[in-house]
Amino acid sequence: MRRTRLIATLGPATDSLEAIRALIEAGTDAFRINMSHAAHEWAREVSARIREAAKDAPRERPVAILFDLQGPSIRTGKLTTPLELNPGDQIEFRHEGSTPALPASTTVNYSSLVNDVNIGDTLLVDNGAMIMKIAGVTSDRITCEVMTHGTIGSRRHINLPGVRLNLPALTEKDRADIEVAVECQADFVAGSFVRDAAHVNELRAKIAEAGGHAELIAKLEDQEAIKNLDDIISAADIIMVARGDLGIEVHIEELPIIQRRIVKRCLCLGRRVIIATHLLESMIESPTPTRAEVTDCANAVYEEADALMISGETSVGKHPVRCIEILDRVARRIERSGGLGYATHANLRLEKQHAVRAAVQLVDSIQDAVMVVFTQSGATANQAALLRPRSPIYAFVPDEKVCRALTLSRGVRPFAIPFHKKPRDTIADAVATLRNRRDIPAGTPLVVFSDTLLMEQAVDSILLEHA
Ligand code: PEP
Repeated sequence: MRRTRLIATLGPATDSLEAIRALIEAGTDAFRINMSHAAHEWAREVSARIREAAKDAPRERPVAILFDLQGPSIRTGKLTTPLELNPGDQIEFRHEGSTPALPASTTVNYSSLVNDVNIGDTLLVDNGAMIMKIAGVTSDRITCEVMTHGTIGSRRHINLPGVRLNLPALTEKDRADIEVAVECQADFVAGSFVRDAAHVNELRAKIAEAGGHAELIAKLEDQEAIKNLDDIISAADIIMVARGDLGIEVHIEELPIIQRRIVKRCLCLGRRVIIATHLLESMIESPTPTRAEVTDCANAVYEEADALMISGETSVGKHPVRCIEILDRVARRIERSGGLGYATHANLRLEKQHAVRAAVQLVDSIQDAVMVVFTQSGATANQAALLRPRSPIYAFVPDEKVCRALTLSRGVRPFAIPFHKKPRDTIADAVATLRNRRDIPAGTPLVVFSDTLLMEQAVDSILLEHA
């Protein structure tokens, strides 16, 4: 079983039922719907297709849906013709409704930008494709000197490395998108440009208010988020190292160090972590990855991240299925060669966490043993997974939603089964499920962790059984 989970972004290259089925067959665990580009109707249709395709998933693997919100991103306005610019040219970014004063002029969707920036700040357009320096700021516009050649089209993304922006945590668009995510029963909702714990809490409250059950992913994309790292990790369910924006917002040579620090802190504080973006970028065009990309994927697997996420490779790329196949092969191979072991520094605060660690130590000390966890909410399976046992974790949960919420947990294979009144019957069913599916051979030692073995009370227990 592959432990590292795989997330594929859907887009025009992959939004048909057949394409989604092929990606599931190749090993996709969750599909990302990117609300920066997705219309509501498309998101609804594609969610229904994911659920439909998931019914035929090989070996009844659960498949999840992740809605990724656009968040408070700054974008240029609409242009009838793209602006071609050369070093030394001047361009202005002005309030919507204001009059152009320069030949190269575009609007910007954030009117308070003029209050947040200073002359001399760097302004990057289109994910760093164009570099500019701010040369003038007035009440309704910013003038920049262009440093590199390039062309600006409509609705291009603007980054301001190191600038503290006073953008709202949740935009009106995010609120409307959360309603759609809840309607589509999204399993995960990702918040973009999360800057502090309050932002995470606001997102969580909005999902709950809309009646959703989605787990919350905080995307770390700028320096502010890194300053508030521990607070954000503690407030969220899952962290995403969103390297696309993060790689622009920090000095690029800092990125690998920051990635590693985030993974370490997540494993220490007990949260799942996703490594995202540019893992196989060249495969948007090419059928084979570069050696550097394979090494980057391998590094994320060595770090023992829970999941890897690809974007353009599957949404608009020419070889989406091959991308998932490559990630699958790299992950399986690297997992066999071991990991960096950051989980040994896990900060265990609760008695329950110590009990789970005892089960993990037991399973790791018995040859060929596997871990079986019974969990109502999925929390115990996540706790076990965070300790990165050598054995796979077979998690039995009473409902499909909880099952799907475990699709991004490293090394966890979740199953939904009815929980019987007599715990022994539930265990017997679970073992029969594993045996019938040939997941484990007869006689396999099982370390069973449960807090449901006594019906009247929740009592943590560890049983040693044989299949
Ligand atoms: C990223 O920046 O790496 C990312 C995943 O976010 P987005 O694609 O929404 O910019």
